[in-house]
Parts: sequence; structure tokens; C-alpha cells
Amino acid sequence: MPRPKLLLLAGIVFVGLIAVACLTRERALLADTKTKAPPAPSGSARPTKGPRYPSVLIEGVPCLRQKPDFCGEACAAMYLRRLGQDADQDYVFDRSGLDPSKARGCYTKELAEALKNIGFRTGDVWHKIAVAQAPRQMERQWAALHADLLREIPSIVCMRYDARPGASEHFRLVLGYDAPTDEVIYHEPAEPNGAYRRMPRGRFLELWPLKYANDTWTVIRLRLEPACSIVAKSSAGLTGADYAQHLMKLAERLPGKEFHVVLASPFVVIGDESAETLRRRAKRTVQWATDMLKQDYFKKDPAEILEIWLFKDKASYERHAAALFRAKPGTPFGYFSHTDRALVMNIATGGGTLVHEMVHAFMEPNFPTCPAWFNEGLASLYEQCGAEDGHIHGYTNWRLAGLQKAIRGGRVPSFKTLCSTSTHEFYEEDPGTNYAQARYLCYWLQQHGLLRTYFHRFRAAAADDPTGYQTLMAVLDRKDMEAFKRQWEAYVLKLSFP
Ligand SMILES: [Zn+2]
Repeated sequence: MPRPKLLLLAGIVFVGLIAVACLTRERALLADTKTKAPPAPSGSARPTKGPRYPSVLIEGVPCLRQKPDFCGEACAAMYLRRLGQDADQDYVFDRSGLDPSKARGCYTKELAEALKNIGFRTGDVWHKIAVAQAPRQMERQWAALHADLLREIPSIVCMRYDARPGASEHFRLVLGYDAPTDEVIYHEPAEPNGAYRRMPRGRFLELWPLKYANDTWTVIRLRLEPACSIVAKSSAGLTGADYAQHLMKLAERLPGKEFHVVLASPFVVIGDESAETLRRRAKRTVQWATDMLKQDYFKKDPAEILEIWLFKDKASYERHAAALFRAKPGTPFGYFSHTDRALVMNIATGGGTLVHEMVHAFMEPNFPTCPAWFNEGLASLYEQCGAEDGHIHGYTNWRLAGLQKAIRGGRVPSFKTLCSTSTHEFYEEDPGTNYAQARYLCYWLQQHGLLRTYFHRFRAAAADDPTGYQTLMAVLDRKDMEAFKRQWEAYVLKLSFP
């Protein structure tokens, strides 16, 4: 019976042609320097069942070690580097729109958003798998991933970390497939030496579907196909990603469950009052003063994230300052620790000291050579403050009575003396009037509409006039500073508090 034989022969030829076609496709890819087949280990058996997939590998992708919870961000950054872009995982996070105060990395939805914003065509991200038909449907998912690899499009997949029950979900960057060993090749962002790791395809297909329901699984894949030419650049300065990372680490350091955290950039506010009270303080004091101070004085944020610890009472303040910062506070109100990059407050004494210390925190990056007398004068002016005409405004406060007494006693030094005090002299050899004299000089300047002018002129001319005394005379338009002092003293004596 010739016909059946012929048919059989035709069938063999047909299969042979497919095999050749696949081989040719593989060779064509090999010729392209961007993809190559990994070397076949000796003695390995090719799978005998199911469809066969040619080897493929996207070479030259740098592997980055993820920051905590930034596995998806790291995977995306790796491929951006491969595309020649100077982008890091923070850059990816910052494109996601994820609120840093959530203190975590991107979930799939946010990662998809980031990738879209960066310029990738991710394709459909979520795929439903009917459990009853899982083998066939998973094979289809794999085939689509593999087809993309052949087109040099890697994929970020969200999969279980490993087969243990309760294993976390984890993003990995799939870069290739090795046909002889039937292994998936991927970058592992979470571990050292994570580049071009291998996993048997069977295990990959087991870990890939997320089994939230009994009858339907979810498969997540984000394709990294550039939709346009991508231009990405690592962001300078503090960004949302830095805050998210800081908050994650902070969560591990919190001394107890009674502590809450609120982000008020450039500060992170932490306290053991109720969550509602802390939120109110973060908004009405920290954020408000930040906005006001930046509007009138300070362009630059501090170079690092600063923590503001608001302890609810004296006991909490003293106990936690010792435990967290190894410090015995020298003041009952609060202080700014440069070493710990933290403002440490007993908030029961009021918000005045907080604003005072915030001025120091901003002065440091904006006017690093500012002498102590003006730094303390401006900071203490805002110990008692509010808004006037949309600007921060200092009011008279408890420092007035002592100053009036010193004026009556003729014990207040000249402004030339005040301005020329060194840091050591200001703090350690204070005749008892330094803070108040500096504060009420600032107050006088404020009331005469000269304080902001003085600050900016002083700062600009600080190289020539580091004490600010010459600038003070110029802004006051006075040559006779003794006469000015007499006028100022008379003015201060008429002030009242409360
Ligand atoms: Zn101070």
C-alpha cells in the first residue's frame, strides 16, 4: 500500500523541517551578538515530552542587588542599564507614584505604572489560569514569555520565592532559556551572585502562578519592550525612594508599638502620642514651619533625611534619648543631634523648641558658616510664632523678661561684641543675655521689615563679613551703633509678654 507509506514519509519530512527551522532561528540569534545560546552541559537529556523551545539568552545585562523590598525596581533598573541608561532602582520607584510613607517597594500594579511611565510596553500583566486546565494554560504563558525572549524582550515575573508554604512573592528578571537542560535563566535581585541563575523550567512553572484561589491562579508578567527610545537618569538628591527605604529601616528601630510615624518631607516625624495627635503635629507644626521657612529663607533641604522624635513626656524623652541616642539631654525641651541626624523633643513642653531646632536643621545646608549668634537669634525668634500676611512671624516670648532686666541693669553687651562672639564664646561664656539679645535684634529687624533682607544680604556677603556686623550696619543704615543700641533698648523695654 504505497499511499500510507508516502503519507508517513511526508509526516517525517514535515517534522524534520520544523526542527531545522528552529535550529536556523537559534543560529540566526547566535549570529546576533545580543543573544546567544548558553553552552550545553554534557550528559544532560533533552526533555522528551511537550513542545520544544530553542535556547535563547539576552546577554550583557548587569545584575543589581536590590535594596530592601525593591526587587521589582531592581529588575527594571538592570534592564535599563542594559539599554545604556544611567538609571537605578530609586529612579524606578520614583516613577511608580507609590506614596513613600507606605514604607514598602512596588507591588505589581505600581511597578507596571512605573514601567509604563518610563516607556516600556508591558503588555497584559495579569493572566488568569483555570486550575482544571493548568498544564496547558501555563505552557501557553511560558510560550509567550519565550517568544518574547526570542525577540530580545525580557520579562519581569512575580513568583513565589521558593516552594516553602507561605514563601513571599518576589520579582525576578527572566533573560533566557537553555534547551539542553530545560532551564530558565534569570537574574536574582535578592541574593549575591544573582546574575544568570538557572532554575529547571518545571520548577519555574510551579512557582510562577500565584495561587490565591482554588480554581483560578494568577500569572504575572511584565514585558520590558521599549515603546520608544528611553531616556532615564538616576535622580539626584533625596527622592521618594530614599524616604521609603528610610521608613522601612526605621520600622525595625521603633522602640515600641505605641510609636507612630508620619512623613513630612524633608523630615520623618516619630512619636508616642496618639496617631492622630502625631499627624496633626506633623502637618500643623513640622510641615507648616518647613513651608514657611523655605518660602522666606532656605532653598535647600538637608542633604540627608532628618528624624524628628516627639516624646510625649519627660520620662519618655529621657528614657528614649538614652536608649536610642546614647544621650542624656542637656535641656528639658529638646535638641538637634547632628550625629544622629535627629531632632529629639519632649513635646509636652510645647512646639516652640521644635521650630527652633528646625531652623538649625535648615541653616546647616543653606548657610553653613552662619555664626552661632544669628543661628540662635533666628531660631529662638520662631520659638513663639504664627503666620502674618502669609509669612512666618515671631512673637514676644519668655526670653523677654530676662533681657529687660539686663537692659535696666546695663548688662547687655554692644552689638559689635554680640556679632563677634565665637561659637565657644556664644555658648560657653554667655553672660546670660546672648540668646535673648540675638532674638530681640531679629525681632526688631522683623518688625521693621528688615529681617529677610538682612538674612539674604548677610549670607551673600558672609565671605567678606563673616560676623554679619558690617551687613547689619548697612541694612540698618546706621553708623552710630551705640545710638542704635539705645533706641533698640528703649523699644525692647516697651514690649510685653504675655
Ligand atoms: Zn538653638
